[in-house]
Amino acid sequence: MDKIVSLTPSFSVSPQISVSDVGIIAAQGFRSIISNRPDNETQDQPITAAIAAAAQRVGVGFHHLPVTSGNIRDEDVSAFAEMLRTVKGPVLAYCRTGTRAASLWALSEAHRLDPAAILKTAKAAGYELDALRPRLEARWSSAVKPDSRRSVAAYDVIVVGGGAAGISVAAGLLRRRPDLSLAILEPADKHYYQPGWTLVGAGVFARAKTERAMSALMPKGARWIRAAVSGFAPEENAVIIEDGERLGYRALVVCPGLKLDWNAIEGLRDTLGKNGVTSNYMFDMAPYTWQLVQELKGGRALFTQPAMPIKCAGAPQKAMYLSCNHWSRQGVLPNVEVEFNAAGPVLFGVQHFVPPLMKYVERYGIKLAFGSDLKAVDGAARKAWFDVKGADGSTRRIEKSFDMIHVCPPQTAPDVIRSSPLADKAGWLEVSQETLQHPRFGNIFGLGDVCSAPNAKTAAAVRKQAPVVADNVVSVLAGRGPQSIYDGYGSCPLTVERGKIILAEFGYGGKLLPTFPALIEPTEPSRLAWFLKEKMLPSIYFDLMLKGREWLAHPQRLPHEPQPHEASRPPN
Ligand code: FAD
Repeated sequence: MDKIVSLTPSFSVSPQISVSDVGIIAAQGFRSIISNRPDNETQDQPITAAIAAAAQRVGVGFHHLPVTSGNIRDEDVSAFAEMLRTVKGPVLAYCRTGTRAASLWALSEAHRLDPAAILKTAKAAGYELDALRPRLEARWSSAVKPDSRRSVAAYDVIVVGGGAAGISVAAGLLRRRPDLSLAILEPADKHYYQPGWTLVGAGVFARAKTERAMSALMPKGARWIRAAVSGFAPEENAVIIEDGERLGYRALVVCPGLKLDWNAIEGLRDTLGKNGVTSNYMFDMAPYTWQLVQELKGGRALFTQPAMPIKCAGAPQKAMYLSCNHWSRQGVLPNVEVEFNAAGPVLFGVQHFVPPLMKYVERYGIKLAFGSDLKAVDGAARKAWFDVKGADGSTRRIEKSFDMIHVCPPQTAPDVIRSSPLADKAGWLEVSQETLQHPRFGNIFGLGDVCSAPNAKTAAAVRKQAPVVADNVVSVLAGRGPQSIYDGYGSCPLTVERGKIILAEFGYGGKLLPTFPALIEPTEPSRLAWFLKEKMLPSIYFDLMLKGREWLAHPQRLPHEPQPHEASRPPN
């Protein structure tokens, strides 16, 4: 089938198809076919029922909305729009030449897309629809005028979230295609370099070093819309923002990070930041960790880790090792009873790193409590309660006293994702773990902490994901499929002592993926890795990654295959 052309990533048109074309159409990933041709127009025309039967055999939906050439009525347009809204995509619509199908699409989009953009898109696909201009303009102005605040602005790309992922991918997209109209939806006015918070909690970094004005990081050419997304309407290629306004896109990149669920632990919110209760997972709180560590000369220090997945799975123990190292240097470690309470069954998810970490657990005299999940804290009483799993599967609630407790809160997908049609069963943004494309909506991609992909949720992962998504979005906008592949790379610089790091770098399935294998032995504590973390990574983050300079991050690419829009097609 070399006659199909894409108008959007989820909608294509073609001239008349034959029964034998249907299998190829299914193999190209189309989920629905719409025929806009009445039966018996010409003698060589296949019977619609035969095409419908062939579609049914291969599991593709078939819909018949016949319109007469040169006489597309408003009710036809409404019926077509409703069809596009309700049938499974990607959709292929056909008529004799494809012009009626393209015209129906153009008219059905005219309430939300600028007529010039519609005509340009159709022309690029080989359909000259200039005769429709007056109708398109009439529809566009009647849709926009009644309440311009509610009007739909259309962007080539909308990026949801201006964190590590959002800024990196937007910068990468604009480097590839400076002509893109691209908006970043981000409500916060501050951007945080969260990997630095471990070092703030250890007195190595000042808190201010990890905070920048969001405005200073917005890539040139991006429009910053300072609002949170409150809903997704993927069938309409629109997102809904807080005030109810809908914004249209051709491609959407979803990266609002994850939700730290502080409220899931009873009493925690009331006592965080006082009574010896702290967390490096909060910008304001990391300096308090360092204050507590310096003040503690003896007693019991608890460190907690919730069920996976969490961002930077090593961060709870990084806080613990650096605290122990300080107490050791001060000569007070023998007076401190240190306990690591983890909801899961293992110290670290990638087995290669467990033996070297266990050496530090033994060296610091840390007691490990697996299957121990923090449920409640009473700061004033200096008590915490854990649900502890027994070998028989039963759960007991155990009370532990503390002088200091470092809490890592439970983490989930943001509510706006969990309640959206984009979520997987567990609530995370569903993506293909290789292309990072949404499996049901081909023009939607995701990256960063929000994703369902089973990589380590780290900024290091984002550094490798952003080029993949930027490549694939550009490819989809050009009517092709995704071209680049993500290997699951993530990294966790495990700060086992001040001045030394075990640099855990790994991909899907726990495969070791060291960046500098000749310089840094992956499972050994390394001074060079500490130097990298302290002196180089902040600048790699701010000056390279967030600017779309993809150093050591070039993705693997799929072999290029000729695509429908690149092939020749017969004239109308
Ligand atoms: P974020 O950077 O969290 O950004 C999400 C953005 O989305 C935010 O700006 C937010 O305001 C915005 N947003 C939220 N909701 C909406 C909405 N509805 N609409 C629009 N915008 C929205 N990674 C490493 O690589 N190495 C480390 O050593 C490391 N250590 C860490 C230590 C700690 C203590 C922590 C907390 C994290 C650490 N990380 C580390 C993890 C790393 O910071 C994250 O993985 C990374 O920031 C994820 O990027 P993101 O863009 O997905 O999310």
